[in-house]
Amino acid sequence: MSTLEIRDLHVNVANSDENAESINILKGVNLTVRSGETHAIMGPNGSGKSTLSYAIAGHPKYEVTSGTITLDGENVLEMSVDERARAGLFLAMQYPVEVPGVSMSNFLRTAATSVRGEAPKLRHWVKEVKEAMSELEIDPTFGERSVNEGFSGGEKKRHEILQLGLLKPKIAILDETDSGLDVDALRVVSEGVNRYKEREDGGVLLITHYTRILRYIQPEFVHVFVNGRIVESGGAELADELEANGYVRFTQAGAGA
Ligand code: ADP
Ligand code: MG
Ligand code: MG
Repeated sequence: MSTLEIRDLHVNVANSDENAESINILKGVNLTVRSGETHAIMGPNGSGKSTLSYAIAGHPKYEVTSGTITLDGENVLEMSVDERARAGLFLAMQYPVEVPGVSMSNFLRTAATSVRGEAPKLRHWVKEVKEAMSELEIDPTFGERSVNEGFSGGEKKRHEILQLGLLKPKIAILDETDSGLDVDALRVVSEGVNRYKEREDGGVLLITHYTRILRYIQPEFVHVFVNGRIVESGGAELADELEANGYVRFTQAGAGA
């Protein structure tokens, strides 16, 4: 049983103009995600959802100016990116990075070795990867391709979920894992997330601005995210309301905040 706890989190993003001041994006985020729970964070573009995921994962461009993040009471903010992964945090990025020259199978084995603290036994590992790839309907030849290089949007997202299945984190943050997926890829990716939830009793923080994926991955908690903070929390019915009415009610209420 694990708990990711975020308290009054304020985050600035470094300005691309190095001489200018950093910009405040997150304005007091409070959120608790436990094993076995699925939380959906929904909000308009530019509201800071990816900033939240990067801050949890430890991206150097995102500076926590106040507030806390803990995993089972341990201070996440003091951990390096690698230490966060070893502690059991996983981020599937909205825009997965390409790593030319590094094959997917090498990449996965290196990541698994780092997270597990020892290299997986080769014979066992090969079988594990093969099964995980087959579940996600990924062609076995992908193992030899450079990470994400030339992958379609859907292939990149399947690869993220492949990592999720192999690395078995305690808490998984999935940032717009649904964007750019056709309906078949959406089903395959969602089934992968649901298998992770069942097998690992994982906690999921699902960031999206469409309700479509929530028909496949059902959240117990839905949070509306506007202008750098959660402005309302509820159950699955809140997603239905967003589907019907959009974010207008919340962006008006949040204006000037
Ligand atoms: P969302 O994921 O909800 O669409 P983001 O977290 O990506 O929102 O962005 C929130 C705001 O922070 C946006 O106004 C965006 O332009 C700004 N921002 C995010 N990352 C950077 C960055 N690296 N440099 C400058 N501005 C950024
Ligand atoms: Mg966005
Ligand atoms: Mg985003």
